[in-house]
Amino acid sequence: MPQIETVVKKSLYMGRLTQGADLLEELDRICKDRSLECGRVEAIGAVQKACIGYYDQRQRQYRINTLDEPLEILTLSGNVSLKDGTSMVHAHITLADKEGRAFGGHLMAGTVIFACECIIEAFDGPAFNRKFDPETDLQLWDMR
Ligand code: ZN
Repeated sequence: MPQIETVVKKSLYMGRLTQGADLLEELDRICKDRSLECGRVEAIGAVQKACIGYYDQRQRQYRINTLDEPLEILTLSGNVSLKDGTSMVHAHITLADKEGRAFGGHLMAGTVIFACECIIEAFDGPAFNRKFDPETDLQLWDMR
């Protein structure tokens, strides 16, 4: 059964991120500073290097791919919810190298911003809390 809630758009934030900062940490910080509990994130731009994860469903752990080169952010798409009572951004990213080849995965710390424009949409809604899910070994939304 899908677990779906109604949420209502509350406010929009739009801005430019800091060159040299960690992309995931900066998005997390923006949301924590504004106490966002429920929302959506998108961004485009470029990174100096990237660290992306692939969740190995059999091993039940993330494989980390480090891409140590300048890359374009084709899309970053994510959400904002609560983990242990504070805002947490979960985002996936698609990147392209100078040949236009695309790579993607779960955004991890270690991805360094070259330039980045982001939009964060905050929702009024029930707080979505992450909780350990034994079926996947992931911290997923607890909708009960
Ligand atoms: Zn993910």
